[in-house]
Amino acid sequence: MPHRYTCRTCRTSGAAHDQKSDAEADRDAHRITTHGGMTPPDGDHIRYAQPDHRGALIVLGVLCGLVLVETVTGISVDDIARWLGLL
Ligand SMILES: [Zn+2]
Repeated sequence: MPHRYTCRTCRTSGAAHDQKSDAEADRDAHRITTHGGMTPPDGDHIRYAQPDHRGALIVLGVLCGLVLVETVTGISVDDIARWLGLL
């Protein structure tokens, strides 16, 4: 489950991390470098970050492309894999 650190004072957010401890490391580094090691005046938090859907869209695009190639050319994915020596 991805987590992301956000500083309300600076209105900035860190990267989404799979481990909460990595977001906590972002928080600690930000507090040290920007706020002298203190908690920001307007607060900060670590919350669940929405997963990136681009990976799923890329997979869907590749699958649609393979279906299109098979429909237009009649060459199946198995044929391509055998031609490439993967099967
Ligand atoms: Zn800040």
